[in-house]
Amino acid sequence: MNTAIKNSDHTSFYKNVLGFFDKAGMLTKYPKGLLNQIRETNSVYRIIFPIRTTGKNYEVIEAFRAEHSHHKLPVKGGIRYSLSVNQDEVMALAALMTFKCAVVDVPFGGAKGGIRIDPKKYSEAQLERITRRYTAELIKKNFIGPAIDVPAPDYGTGAREMAWIADTYQQFHPEQIDAAGCVTGKPISQGGVRGRTEATGRGVFFAAREVVSIAEDMKKIGLTTGLDGKKVIVQGLGNVGYHAAKFLQNSGALIVGIAEYEGAIYNKNGLDVDSVFQHRKNRNTILNFKGAKNIKPTEKALELNCDILIPAALENQIHADNANKIKAKIIVEAANGPLTPEAEEILLKKNVLIIPDLYANAGGVTVSYFEWLKNLSHVRFGRMEKRYEEATYRTLVNTMEELSGKSLNESQKKTLINGPSEIDLVNSGLEETMVTAYHEIRAIMKRSKRVETLRTASYISAINKIAESYLALGIFP
Ligand code: NAD
Repeated sequence: MNTAIKNSDHTSFYKNVLGFFDKAGMLTKYPKGLLNQIRETNSVYRIIFPIRTTGKNYEVIEAFRAEHSHHKLPVKGGIRYSLSVNQDEVMALAALMTFKCAVVDVPFGGAKGGIRIDPKKYSEAQLERITRRYTAELIKKNFIGPAIDVPAPDYGTGAREMAWIADTYQQFHPEQIDAAGCVTGKPISQGGVRGRTEATGRGVFFAAREVVSIAEDMKKIGLTTGLDGKKVIVQGLGNVGYHAAKFLQNSGALIVGIAEYEGAIYNKNGLDVDSVFQHRKNRNTILNFKGAKNIKPTEKALELNCDILIPAALENQIHADNANKIKAKIIVEAANGPLTPEAEEILLKKNVLIIPDLYANAGGVTVSYFEWLKNLSHVRFGRMEKRYEEATYRTLVNTMEELSGKSLNESQKKTLINGPSEIDLVNSGLEETMVTAYHEIRAIMKRSKRVETLRTASYISAINKIAESYLALGIFP
């Protein structure tokens, strides 16, 4: 297997991920053999299949699924539709998934899939055929299943593609009662969970909010605490970028710049995220948004004035050639691998605080885990306890009113009495996960001067947890 396939002219993404891993591995106590076992990709499946385009014309499609680590099952990771998909990329993304799941205590190994197509060039019917065929290929080789390997949305895919995957799998396995758990990110009607679509962006928001809440860390980079008034630039107004920008805006941050692949826009007084989204939908371009300055080429947007930069598009966006021009004080890696190792070195010298991908965008897999749990339990979260809890809280409020002789107004009562719905539980689980994981990795960094970055701390956190699961089996004495 050739692991040195180049992801771009600059660098191999997989090599970068392994480089980050090795840097962290050196700072742990584990033997080389164990570190190698944690580091290497277990299996890669490359698929070639034809689809009929027009009349008698066929096109050959190339696709992949990489399963990085089976230390926990099922393995999990998104499916990407993009022309950038190649073996190197899926292996890098699968490895990142292993470490990401460990950082946020999601009990899965890592995987990733991809189909090398530009989805914009195909009709919906063609995309459905491609997705169903890809799923059938995964089924043939046992690369999908609720106990084996569970895909999810990634760049270029969403709930629609996940519904096709679930439906195909269920047709092949009508006898499997847990078949809906073969994929996550599905529409609610197909067994999806409320809050999954926005989960990665919401997780990015929780991460950013937690980061800026720590006075000691903000002082070091010359910022005040809190999101209010912080200037933010987002690259990529897709699923992750849009939701991250929206939640940040709702918490008082100013989204001063948004970059898409056709160009970027900037307004120092802030852009309304929903209006920009609608504008792009109506006009097919983000450019010429009222009150904003057009920025071209789009990557120039990364270099504009802001406090927080959120790359939420693809890997290798900040590299040796532009890292020096970045003005942000904090970079939150919503995308996977947006910084090359060279860029990170330059940015660290500039005192930029980098919130690494394997923590920052883990909200998606966290809520995917909740969806999988829902599929296995065959019941909506909150269904059993909601009414019971409401009745208990109502009694409590009534007793308080009686004892105090004072009455609460209707809105106060509603807040106190409401039992949790599915979305409340999902968001609460996500918030708990993102906040806890941040303090875990920050504590690892603070414990030792040799751990210089949150990225290294995150890899150490992941390595510790994965190593423990091998050591518990006595495989590595
Ligand atoms: P998406 O396809 O919904 O959106 C990506 C957006 O980026 C698109 O609108 C695209 O036009 C834009 N884009 C592409 N190249 C660009 C460029 N050079 N400059 C500016 N914009 C550009 O994809 P997504 O699901 O939002 O994923 C984005 C990133 O987040 C990927 O790295 C993905 O691996 C990562 N991620 C996604 C999830 C998830 O739940 N979807 C979870 C974890 C990580």
